Amino acid sequence: MSKCRKGSKQYWKYRKAMKKLSVKFDRKINDCVHKITKCYLDYCIENQISIVYYGDLDGATRGTKQKSKGNSYIRQKLGQWNYGQIMIHLTNKLSRYGIRLVKVKEYYTSTKCPICRSLNKPTKRSYECVCGYKQHRDIVGAINILNDNHGANLSRFTRVSTNYLTV
Ligand SMILES: [Zn+2]
Repeated sequence: MSKCRKGSKQYWKYRKAMKKLSVKFDRKINDCVHKITKCYLDYCIENQISIVYYGDLDGATRGTKQKSKGNSYIRQKLGQWNYGQIMIHLTNKLSRYGIRLVKVKEYYTSTKCPICRSLNKPTKRSYECVCGYKQHRDIVGAINILNDNHGANLSRFTRVSTNYLTV
């Protein structure tokens, strides 16, 4: 499209095709958001969850503005990921069942060891501390969020398997 003369017949043809694709893409994303949030609601009801803490991801794209190829790809993906839309749907669905959503800061949650509190950088998906504690990095993040905000003490939580939902 960038090689076309602006306003030419070919230009408008491409533009129309791109618009059609974008509408299709938006519809798919919307469908996914509904599925994910419904799945989450079902999980909360099934497990009698009354309060949900979630990480503040407003600054998730911050710090990725380097010029490397990998980071520009991540930025693009994060841009397409409609986090706000997911949160609106989730809030609407959960509030209908009296489930509260609380936004919390995520600083150091995936680097802090839940046992000895020392900071370690996770390698890829796994977290390993000098004290010998090992866990999936996302679980470490969730443990720290609960411990810091809900007064929980999940330091001995040792489940290792993690399931990802693919829509
Ligand atoms: Zn440790």
